[in-house]
Amino acid sequence: TTVLVTGANGFLGAATVLELLTRGYKVKGVVRSQDKADAFIRQYPQFKANLKFAIIPSLTDEAGYLAATLDVDYIIHTASPFSFSFKDNLKDCLEPAVEGTRVVLRVADKRPAIKHVVITSSHAAVGSPLVGLGAGITYTENDWNPTTWEEAVSSPDTGFVYCASKEFGERAAWEFIRHKEPHFSITTFCPPWIFGPPMQPIESMDRLNESGAYIWEMLSKGTDEIPATIFPLMIDVRDLAKLQVDALTNPKAKNQRYLASSDGAWNEDIVYTFKEAYPELASRAAKGQYRKPEPHYEQDCSKTERDFDIEWTPLKKTIVDMAAVLFAKEKEL
Ligand code: NDP
Repeated sequence: TTVLVTGANGFLGAATVLELLTRGYKVKGVVRSQDKADAFIRQYPQFKANLKFAIIPSLTDEAGYLAATLDVDYIIHTASPFSFSFKDNLKDCLEPAVEGTRVVLRVADKRPAIKHVVITSSHAAVGSPLVGLGAGITYTENDWNPTTWEEAVSSPDTGFVYCASKEFGERAAWEFIRHKEPHFSITTFCPPWIFGPPMQPIESMDRLNESGAYIWEMLSKGTDEIPATIFPLMIDVRDLAKLQVDALTNPKAKNQRYLASSDGAWNEDIVYTFKEAYPELASRAAKGQYRKPEPHYEQDCSKTERDFDIEWTPLKKTIVDMAAVLFAKEKEL
């Protein structure tokens, strides 16, 4: 059984690839360049036999994806432009996210052997980006980010535009399923921040993915203050990788949308967990008094807990394990 994973060299993509390989699946990873494929194999030579790569530089290269899916049974689509520093809302963020999702589904539609497609959406597709901490709100799978396409195209706020790209990417997936009623089914997951030990090849500590960079900034730069918490929930990358792989063969997950959060993610808890676990590195972390978490929105994950066998990893373990890998990488590079 072969699973095509897009964004295979990314933070979530790599964790998903490794979860598949350890469970005995064959994997075809989609990456943008040969260098990225080579770096992955260098880091994980033990998986060489079951891991192939397809080099597809653009998310919207339909012919490339069609060629890559010849011998594929399932797809996990994690690739999406995840950055808060881009220039052109449409070309750099909205179009690749939305059209990239459509291309993956159109290609699956042309491949009768493909049974199921898992798509990484985001809490950004669920909550309004304007509620702040949203005390008192409990989101469910019925909630959608209300941003309109016009607002997304014209906004000067790249965080707002990224959130809309996830909203419209996921909306495009459900529209496709409604209109085409294809032979395959889909599952979407809407995670908040994804933290945990990075497993992807890392070239330099200045080139971590957005959530990795966010944590690394707080734990290693000795800044004067702990930044205010903006997104108060997280999922451990290992929990999400497991869910995404489970969803491939879980009949309950057919054409279902799931929220998925492991724990709260209050910045003071992150910094103080780290300082307690690694007193010798405490001076590297952001300085500042402990302030206890303020009330914030929650995700109701009862549907996920009902349909999957999942034990959520608590924030403390996520941060302790994540910091261990980040500081070891810093030494190595
Ligand atoms: P990464 O930046 O680590 O990985 C993103 C992957 O997508 C990389 O392989 C990247 O390729 C690829 N990619 C990005 N833009 C393009 C593009 N324009 N064309 C082709 N490939 C592209 O991100 P994460 O692993 O953190 O995120 C994975 C998924 O999870 C995304 O869909 C993201 O929206 C979602 N998500 C992430 C959260 C988080 O906190 N990390 C929170 C919620 C959702 P390359 O390496 O070559 O740039």
